[in-house]
Amino acid sequence: MFDTLSDRLTSVLKNLRGKGRLSDADIDSTCREIRIALLEADVALPVVRAFIAQIKERAKGAEVSQALNPAQQVVKIVDEELVAILGGETRRLNLAKNPPSVILLAGLQGAGKTTLAGKLAKWLRGQGHTPLLVACDLQRPNAVTQLQVVGEQAGVPVYAPEPGNGVGNPVEVARQSILEAERAQHDIVLVDTAGRLGVDEEMMRQAADIRDAVSPDEILFVLDAMVGQDAVNTAEAFRDGVGFTGVVLTKLDGDARGGAALSVRHVTGQPILFASNGEKLDDFDVFHPDRMASRILG
Ligand code: GDP
Repeated sequence: MFDTLSDRLTSVLKNLRGKGRLSDADIDSTCREIRIALLEADVALPVVRAFIAQIKERAKGAEVSQALNPAQQVVKIVDEELVAILGGETRRLNLAKNPPSVILLAGLQGAGKTTLAGKLAKWLRGQGHTPLLVACDLQRPNAVTQLQVVGEQAGVPVYAPEPGNGVGNPVEVARQSILEAERAQHDIVLVDTAGRLGVDEEMMRQAADIRDAVSPDEILFVLDAMVGQDAVNTAEAFRDGVGFTGVVLTKLDGDARGGAALSVRHVTGQPILFASNGEKLDDFDVFHPDRMASRILG
């Protein structure tokens, strides 16, 4: 991901090299090129506008520096603004003072929620936690089994309705899972919810009902970074329908243009906490805005 954007930005910035001083016209034309590169990468328009305005203002106001030549100064400004648009500081997971903490996963079907549940569970276990995975996606026929498979791979137990008990009520499953976590001393409960292929009122209501039943410490919106412009609409729909406290980007290993990843923080106001970049459970990491910015700038 970001290869094209990265190439474009690096070549725009390279054009500034060797210039002794940057005129306002140099800065304007550089900003124009950056703007095009971002729009072509599917970054949402309000994000592009805010980003360019910041770069322009800072580049034009930059003091003559002893340490950096003008081109390096612009690169530094672009880097810092990329970090800012990606959320600035790394944001850690919010956990409850009194366990169990509850983390609710929400997102469209296919976004990578169930896979992510396994990844997060394994990562948390590696951090010394004792998570419990909870299967509240009772809509998709295979979802419970899929969660059981990733749970086994992660070495984390799965709480699910007994087979044969009909479809089951996901709100009740979620509620019961908290009691189970208290009983078996799990310090984190990770709740996988049902998704649909598109934003759907019933799915939102179900996720909101589960939220109300278990009062999560974190609601993580799982977003497939491969989807283009539509990502922003989906994120806004989840923000308004369920609300979330953080974002997880999945499929960052894909070759899409990456605009969703760059837009979601600014558009929703919520930080990106984790990144998933492959199908294996270990293809997962804490999201670091500064590292992502460095990757984009090559
Ligand atoms: P859910 O419907 O949201 O629970 O999504 P799943 O967890 O079932 O994932 C949907 C598909 O995306 C599966 O084939 C996963 O293997 C795949 N997938 C999930 N995360 C990633 C990722 O980070 N990279 C890639 N390449 N594939 C992923």
